[in-house]
Amino acid sequence: MVSIHLPLTAEGTEQSNGLWPLALDGRRHSINHKQYAIGHKRGVGEGDTSLPRHECGVFGVYAPEQDVARLTFFGLFALQHRGQESAGIAVANGEEICVHKQMGLVSQIFDERILFRLRGHIAIGHTRYSTTGSSVIRNAQPILLGNETCCLALAHNGNLINTVQLRTRLERLGMRFTATSDSEIIAHLVHRELAFGASVEEALAATVDKIVGAYSLVLLTERELIGVRDPYGLHPLCLGQLDQEGYVIASETCALNVVGAQFVREIEPGEVVIVDEDGWHSYRVTSSPCNAMCIFEFIYFARPDSYIFGKSLHLCRQHMGEQLAVEYPVEAEVVIPVPDTGIPAAIGYAKASRIPFSEGLIKSRYIHRTFIQPDQRQREMGVRLKLTPLREVLAGRRVVMVDDSIVRGTTTGQIVRLLRDAGAREVHVRICCPPIKYPCFYGIDMATRQELIASSKTVEEIREHIGADSLGYLSARGLAKAIGVSSRNFCWACFKGRYPIPIPRHLKIEKFALEKGGPIPSTGARARHAGTGTPSPPEC
Ligand code: SF4
Repeated sequence: MVSIHLPLTAEGTEQSNGLWPLALDGRRHSINHKQYAIGHKRGVGEGDTSLPRHECGVFGVYAPEQDVARLTFFGLFALQHRGQESAGIAVANGEEICVHKQMGLVSQIFDERILFRLRGHIAIGHTRYSTTGSSVIRNAQPILLGNETCCLALAHNGNLINTVQLRTRLERLGMRFTATSDSEIIAHLVHRELAFGASVEEALAATVDKIVGAYSLVLLTERELIGVRDPYGLHPLCLGQLDQEGYVIASETCALNVVGAQFVREIEPGEVVIVDEDGWHSYRVTSSPCNAMCIFEFIYFARPDSYIFGKSLHLCRQHMGEQLAVEYPVEAEVVIPVPDTGIPAAIGYAKASRIPFSEGLIKSRYIHRTFIQPDQRQREMGVRLKLTPLREVLAGRRVVMVDDSIVRGTTTGQIVRLLRDAGAREVHVRICCPPIKYPCFYGIDMATRQELIASSKTVEEIREHIGADSLGYLSARGLAKAIGVSSRNFCWACFKGRYPIPIPRHLKIEKFALEKGGPIPSTGARARHAGTGTPSPPEC
């Protein structure tokens, strides 16, 4: 457990790298990250690395007179599907910013006692799946920075592609980093500008000018809640209004619903929304070259009860199934989903093909909520830990199995075997997207190109590899049609290899680029702050 109080008007306190890690009792202590890292391992069910992984969920609320920490807790709860490695909440009360973050699930991290201590009128929260930087407590968010002139907390969904260059330049300027994530770099860039006397607007403009990649951000200062979306709009971010006075910014609309906020609108690519005592206002911080929403938000990531571009994710996925039935019809007795994300598409396939829909695989819903790791024998059981076939539904039948995607092919092959072992006569696999051939650099943790089965195998070879009787991938055209939004609004890079934000050749971003780039400064590392004596910070 990490609880950090950050006095906004700290005096005479030794500072470490712009951070003020003070314990609740005011005694200075160094945070022993190790003790927190031990507890974290991916849950049993998450040992399956064959699925694309989420990149993070962010939530922020500005609501005087309300229990903002509690609202944020429930907001994060609704966004848990976007990241299960760590979570945190930062709260500002006008005098101090307090953050609590820990490895694990939202429900494991917060209790009444902790929420009671997080008092204030502005809060931000974060659920993390690591993209840049490993899964350890020092990379948990929100990130908190402060000195005698200003403080801020930041939570980030996405992935920068110029992380290493930025960090190198900042380190040359004397900055020390406690984490290995790109998010800490963004926080430092904003904080640095504020510390040199820039307004929030100026600080954000200078930061956005330097960072390249995917970012949906929520930040809080002592007075404002801020939302920022990258110029391409790779990941969603929306604004909602609470019934009583107050506003919410969240990754997905499902997090608005859970706290009783009404959807106001999506935050546009390249837009900043600032909420303060006068309400909210917004402006374009940078121009948007094109819209490039990650298509996987529609296929898999966002919750089915969320809306993006005004479209119900559940209905879009159902239409994907209908379209699959048109593109790849087959004679069969039953259509089953791979739970949970395959469910709406399987319903759609069944509806369009008039083949009965049924559950055929029962998912162990709580498997990911344990920190107990499977032993080697259990690991070899693979998907059996997570999915149980229903012999009554499958035995002797020709089965259509609908899933969202195939990444490495390992899991799909295991599931096909599971169905055959349960007596399925034929297994026809239908996938809601085209073959994934290229890796993602924008915050979705899929695999390297070599690991992507479709990068080196034809559809027929993949069918053979997974042991299916037939295999059908939804076409890109069919996918766009199912969503009902022009294909020009999306990033299709992992299918087509055309990246909307060019990936520098020399910069083959790796997940652990910063760890490999050099030694990580210890948490106890000291660095002099750049100071406030000069009118503007040196260029970085
Ligand atoms: S490359 Fe693929 S996973 Fe990454 S943002 Fe683009 S569509 Fe999404």
